[in-house]
Amino acid sequence: MKAAVYTAPHKIEFIQDYPDPEMGDGLMIQVKASGVCATDVKAYKGLRYGMEPPMILGHEFAGEVLASSMEDYKIGERVSVAPYAGCGICDFCLNDHEELCKDKVFTTNGCFAEKLFVPRDLVNKTGWKISQNVPFMDAALAEPLACVILSLRSCRWEPGWTIMVVGGGFMGILHVLLAQAWGASKIILSEPNLPRRALAEELGAIVCDPNENVDLGRYARDHTDGYGPHVVIASIANEKVVESAFDCPRPGGYYHMFGGLPKQSSITIPSFLTHYKEVTLVGTSGYRTKDYRLASNLINEGKIDFQPLFSKTFSLKQVGSAIEQVVNQEILKAMILE
Ligand SMILES: [Zn+2]
Ligand SMILES: [Zn+2]
Repeated sequence: MKAAVYTAPHKIEFIQDYPDPEMGDGLMIQVKASGVCATDVKAYKGLRYGMEPPMILGHEFAGEVLASSMEDYKIGERVSVAPYAGCGICDFCLNDHEELCKDKVFTTNGCFAEKLFVPRDLVNKTGWKISQNVPFMDAALAEPLACVILSLRSCRWEPGWTIMVVGGGFMGILHVLLAQAWGASKIILSEPNLPRRALAEELGAIVCDPNENVDLGRYARDHTDGYGPHVVIASIANEKVVESAFDCPRPGGYYHMFGGLPKQSSITIPSFLTHYKEVTLVGTSGYRTKDYRLASNLINEGKIDFQPLFSKTFSLKQVGSAIEQVVNQEILKAMILE
């Protein structure tokens, strides 16, 4: 099969005759659309532990069934599957922390390839059939949407709440879209990049340039009821920016460190925040199967409009340059169409 193989840091090679994944009990899927995610970018830069070359990157995908050993799935059906699911029986899975499971089930290879094989267990837990009117590109985004669903759920999100998103990258903007779908009364987004601010504004957020409004806490309070937003999401991998927003959540609110910082990095948390202001600090990484299922339902019912987020599409041959353009912040989201 054709595949874009990550062979060394900053190097993706297009290989015409890469070995096909082996068919087993489950589904062989022909990939039709896939998304470049921050995790792929980290791996590409050689910064992601456990994702060493050579390997095929990519985990956000949708496609068609090429071969099936499962009665419920016929050849040619449009499907998508989550990149992982928990085992369901370990202590983490049983305590509502499936994303921390050490015994997850995965697809055979990454999705920047013509085909991938998905074992029966993963299909049973997370597989879904894409509605005829939903494009493959939208369906491929069920995984990032699921991560954002877990993010807001872990802040015990309630309709009518106010939210501030710090960082207007793809995941930040996805928080804006979900908060809107889930009834936010006000959405504030802080982002230095002008085109990203303009997009967030178009989507209904109040936008703020952190270079102009250096006192983010004051800005947040001025644009809510004087107390600050119920939920603050730091969707950014920068220690200083994460620290700059600790003053933003309202008393009793939530501060979510959504962006993954490097393992060795540390930040200073004002003790006043958690004691006297009773702000809950939250962190999540990944999603749980129930979040993924909810995401697929929202997409199949057309509740989230991803269209404004698709800035550019690429072919499988162009995966390297797609990732480069994401690294250079030239585009918000790179989608690979096959
Ligand atoms: Zn992803
Ligand atoms: Zn488990």
